[in-house]
Formats: sequence, structure tokens, C-alpha cells
Amino acid sequence: MGEVFQRPRVEPEERQAFTTTFERDVLRRFVVCAQCGERMRKRSEYQLDHEIPREIGGKHAVENVRPLCIECHKAKTALDAKVIAKAKRLAGETCTGPSRRPMKSGRPLPGTKASGLKRRMNGTVERRNPHGEA
Ligand SMILES: [Zn+2]
Repeated sequence: MGEVFQRPRVEPEERQAFTTTFERDVLRRFVVCAQCGERMRKRSEYQLDHEIPREIGGKHAVENVRPLCIECHKAKTALDAKVIAKAKRLAGETCTGPSRRPMKSGRPLPGTKASGLKRRMNGTVERRNPHGEA
């Protein structure tokens, strides 16, 4: 009892450049956008996507990389951001506690109730009575 399951923290492998051989291996398996099926002929028409984001443990390996058209990759990246954020939230890596108010300044603003003083109509200044003895 009392054991709290904690998802192990995943550190992404160091990011490496895609080599041309690597890209050829990926394209041998996919010649179309892996999402919408659009055919892509030029390098500028697609981007390589880690199907399982590396931030949550996806490998930088041919099995986990696929070409996506620019539009699909944009959508996938946005989706990844949500998934990554959720994974981090579940792992307790982000603070979800109540937002903190800024610390109150030690010096109260003069002329306010907080200063503890009040000025009477005749010009004399006296200490406010906090216990309401008007
Ligand atoms: Zn697509």
C-alpha cells in the first residue's frame, strides 16, 4: 500500500543528422505520405517524422521514421506536442499546482488601510484600530 506508480523518465537519444543512406532506406518502404497517401517526388515535398516521438521514447531508427507531406507533418508535430505534454504531466514533470500569487510587498502603500494609519479630517494622523473599536 502507498506505492505510487511512476512512469520512468525517458531521455531522448542524442539527435543525429539523417544520412542519405538512412533516407533511402526510409523511402524504400514509403514512397507516399504515410498519413494521407500523397505521392512525393522531391525532397522539399516531404519531411521525415518520428512516428513515436523521441521525447517519449521513440527510436531514431528506420522502423520509427516515415516521410510525411508538409501538411501532415505539421499536424503530426502539433499532435506530438500534446502527447508529449500529456506524458510529461503523467510523469509529474510539470507543475500542475495552483498558480501562486506574487509575494506581497513588505511595505504597505501609504494612505491605504494596509498602512495601519489614518488621517483625520483635522489633519491629525492616528493608528487604525484593527479590532474595530471605532
Ligand atoms: Zn500527407
